[in-house]
Amino acid sequence: MNLQEVAALVRPNIARLCPYSTARDEYKGPLGVFLDANESPYPTGFNRYPDPHQKALKARLSEIKGVPAENIFIGNGSDEAIDMVFRVFCEPGRDNVVAIEPSYGMYGVCADINDVAVRSVALGADFSLPAEAVLAACDAHTKAIFLCSPNNPSGNAFPREQLMDIVRRARTMVVVDEAYIDFCQERSLRFEVETCPNLIVYQTLSKAWGMAGLRLGLAFAHPSVIARMSQVKYPYNISALTQQTVLEALSHPIDAQVAEIVSERARVAREMASLPCVKHIYPSQANFLLVKVSDADALYGHLIADGVIVRNRNKVKGCAGCLRITIGLKAENDRMLQSLRTFREAGVLPDIV
Ligand SMILES: *Cc1c(COP(=O)(O)O)cnc(C)c1O
Repeated sequence: MNLQEVAALVRPNIARLCPYSTARDEYKGPLGVFLDANESPYPTGFNRYPDPHQKALKARLSEIKGVPAENIFIGNGSDEAIDMVFRVFCEPGRDNVVAIEPSYGMYGVCADINDVAVRSVALGADFSLPAEAVLAACDAHTKAIFLCSPNNPSGNAFPREQLMDIVRRARTMVVVDEAYIDFCQERSLRFEVETCPNLIVYQTLSKAWGMAGLRLGLAFAHPSVIARMSQVKYPYNISALTQQTVLEALSHPIDAQVAEIVSERARVAREMASLPCVKHIYPSQANFLLVKVSDADALYGHLIADGVIVRNRNKVKGCAGCLRITIGLKAENDRMLQSLRTFREAGVLPDIV
């Protein structure tokens, strides 16, 4: 899609919006007497409003991610970036979005909150992406397609070329959620947003970067799309404490930890494969494994009773009989494996020793 076509997808009220301008937008100097924002003059460390444009943080993220700062939106978690797509593009009660199933639950919840219909397209039995069905599910009121790669909860990544084919052929925005990209071999799509203005790529600091508690999500998109999202967000959506803390934390590389999680993922899968309660381990490019087991609810209950908490996906469409297990520290994974070994299914006699 070209820029005009993308602009035409924006809700009319947002296209007309006169955004809130913060008190300090006009003053560019470094020092001054700040009597413009009704703040307290007494220094508490946090008496001033934070930078609404998150300039320092965007400059650092731009270096790390290799894309210009004007291609980056920073949200209060990916949740805010997800919500932004609905608020910028989707007319409540009229528009719809297309999403794959199974996938991340937040897309649907956000759609419901915004009174936007979701058209679900089932993934293949092996969780492959049915590109033609995704495109066929779109109509004149479809404003976005939500894709997630590597996908949560299935763990697989979709081929880059297949994703880009959807981006090129769709007449809507296409969101590709790359929350787990750091654990994956495929190259990120964030480098394509400049030439594809209908593409939005999400990443997060909640997973590989270890900052889930700080709430920081990223969206990469064409500057014209980023500008819309920035007009719609709360002006001070990222607190001063978060901006400062993240900026410091970004100087600690995560490569060694990511490598360890990836190697633990392979080890845990290997060890699980020999357990009688494990029926299938789906290939994963994320920091979790989706595992089909003989009795998901019973095994989930057994693990909980043993103090091991995993995610029961048994009732999720396409995931019957499955548990989703996050890869933790080696000792934590060993605890989980040990607990799996002590599980005895109802009706199956324990081994006589
Ligand atoms: C965990 C996860 C996120 C991260 O959400 P935050 O709000 O940034 O913590 C985003 N997308 C998917 C698919 C996830 O699994």
